[in-house]
Amino acid sequence: MMDYANVLKESGLKATFQRMNILESIQKHGHMSIDTIYDEVVKTHPSLSLATVYKNIILMVENGVLVEVPIEGKKSKYELVKSDHIHLVCTECGEVEDKPHDENADALFSSMTKEENFSLSKQQINLYGVCAHCQEAVAS
Ligand SMILES: [Zn+2]
Ligand SMILES: [Zn+2]
Repeated sequence: MMDYANVLKESGLKATFQRMNILESIQKHGHMSIDTIYDEVVKTHPSLSLATVYKNIILMVENGVLVEVPIEGKKSKYELVKSDHIHLVCTECGEVEDKPHDENADALFSSMTKEENFSLSKQQINLYGVCAHCQEAVAS
């Protein structure tokens, strides 16, 4: 299990129970929208407002604890910062699947940025489309 208190402190944030609970539920469920994070966290903190959860999530994005995954036409999802990976994002159901970077992708990105003398600091590769499950639902 992750040491959330330490992750927060290292990012310059106070390790409050609310923040630790937010990180815990994202860790458990993968990519989550603010609404679903709120639904989870409010179970342990019934007095928590959606605005507070929202503020905490934005703050954790700014401090590099969480990453925002934008989804066209839907609310963004949030995940914990982890090693580079590629997202398959379904624009029908909003599911986000993690795919590992393979060495071909790494080689492509590094030659591309080198060519432009571009100093890469962070990256997020999102592939948008319709997942197998949603394609089936349309076909039947
Ligand atoms: Zn889908
Ligand atoms: Zn991801």
